[in-house]
Amino acid sequence: MSVWAVIVAAGRGERLGLDRPKAFANLNDRPLLAESLERLEWSDWVDSIAVAAPPDWEEPVILLAEELGCGKVRSVVPGGETRAASVRAGLAEVSEDAAVTLVHDAARPVLPEDVIERLMTKLNEGWDGVVPGLPVADTVKRLEGDQVVETLDRGGLVGAQTPQAFVSSTLRDAVAAGEDATDCAALVEARGGRITVVAGDRRLMKVTEPADLETVRHWLTPSA
Ligand code: C5P
Repeated sequence: MSVWAVIVAAGRGERLGLDRPKAFANLNDRPLLAESLERLEWSDWVDSIAVAAPPDWEEPVILLAEELGCGKVRSVVPGGETRAASVRAGLAEVSEDAAVTLVHDAARPVLPEDVIERLMTKLNEGWDGVVPGLPVADTVKRLEGDQVVETLDRGGLVGAQTPQAFVSSTLRDAVAAGEDATDCAALVEARGGRITVVAGDRRLMKVTEPADLETVRHWLTPSA
């Protein structure tokens, strides 16, 4: 029963305003990608890793994995134009006999091991997929044009993070359909798959803006 992790790292990260892809943004003198790569390498739950790299950055990703001693990295492939395309490229590298696949955004560098444990424990209860989620603090409104047409019941909403864990065969079928979505769970849901949520972690924040890099830097500094 092997567990694979696919790291999607092919985003351009234009909002960071850098001269390189977001996965290579400087985070405490290492590329952002180093953090999640290392955490998945050290995870007791993960056997093998595939990385969807920024196109033309496969070589630097391979070198980084070697430098970090990430022996679980089996494959580094170029990602696609969208996140879903990058997931498809990474998933194509996952071994046929993988029982479980975790899909993780490189843009969420701080990945606590206990989140992976919660996902795996819940998946073993018989779900098709499990995602980490956090309650939504703000009141969420739906707009049509400029006008608010609905105020959603915040009590029933969560913000979905990654890693997201799936029965590999179910994820493969869902991703093969070729649809686009901002997370993998949506692809599985769309095919009638049963997805549930476990507690996420606010440190799994997605780095989008320069200020997010500062926040993550702070969390990773030992004295913080
Ligand atoms: O674009 P967004 O911030 O939602 O990206 C989430 C994750 O998906 C990031 O880790 C990013 O590198 C990855 N991604 C990708 N290929 C794309 C777009 C995003 O691997 N074309």
